[in-house]
Amino acid sequence: RGRLAKSNNVFGRGLLALLSRDRIDQDVWDEIEETLLLADLGSEASMDLVEALQRRVKVEGTQDPNHVKAMLREELLKLVDPTMDRSLAIDRKDMAPAVVLVVGVNGVGKTTTVGKLARVLVAEDKDVVLGAADTFRAAAADQLQTWGNRVGVVTVRSETEGADPASVAFDAVKTGIESESDVVLLDTAGRLQNKAGLMDQLGKIKRVVGKAADVDEVLLVIDATTGQNGMVQAKVFSEAVNVTGIVLTKLDGTAKGGIVVAIQRALGVPVKLIGLGEGPDDLAPFDAEQFVDALLD
Ligand code: GDP
Repeated sequence: RGRLAKSNNVFGRGLLALLSRDRIDQDVWDEIEETLLLADLGSEASMDLVEALQRRVKVEGTQDPNHVKAMLREELLKLVDPTMDRSLAIDRKDMAPAVVLVVGVNGVGKTTTVGKLARVLVAEDKDVVLGAADTFRAAAADQLQTWGNRVGVVTVRSETEGADPASVAFDAVKTGIESESDVVLLDTAGRLQNKAGLMDQLGKIKRVVGKAADVDEVLLVIDATTGQNGMVQAKVFSEAVNVTGIVLTKLDGTAKGGIVVAIQRALGVPVKLIGLGEGPDDLAPFDAEQFVDALLD
């Protein structure tokens, strides 16, 4: 939380300073909206928030900073939506491990997220298998393997560059079944950026894996520092595959935490995990209340 607060408090302080002005006129409201847009909240949510605050400032007729802060907190929290189910579907089923497919564009932090998530699960005493279904670059499998070794779990990979990602994914799930593991985490390639290619690749992985076990969770990894660009890519992925949760990475490197709201709105899928650094312990479950507090800290 501390790390989040440090990078995000510009946003909160800026808003509170604006809302604490002697007179909140249209210019001030415009500045507030601009601040929200700069924090990547998105235009729809920014407008909604400004309208809600305008209404409340008028009705409650108060400029008391503590009251204003509480008001802002409540309205932000509504936008982040604390009622969304953010739990991961990682419980072992009858005879098979839970299968988690991790997707997203190159460089957003997929492999790192798989490594960090494996670490979290191992700490919860779960048996984990990693599958290197990014077969386009040999380095990708090496990188995953390094995480596997570091965390102490098996990494299933192909030695041949360009092997069929679906077949590696299947092998990983088979290994998970044979070793009675709890969770299989599948890292995928992100270089296919057009929808048809993605649908082909991810559809095939799901189909082939499905012969052995259901895919329970499809986590879309998004780099929080890429703003609008990341949103566009996210949309392509969500149209190509049935995304069940979002992992928002690199929140340690941006003051634009508003992206959480914008993404959830655009995709209708909850942010479930956040990445706060490159290290093995830098992954956290997303907590709406904590997040909003950090924004306003
Ligand atoms: P992939 O291509 O999607 O698998 O991305 P990688 O996992 O290789 O990550 C790309 C780069 O982003 C690496 O240098 C990671 O260390 C870095 N990275 C991943 N997650 C985070 C994060 O939460 N915070 C920061 N600061 N860096 C991250």
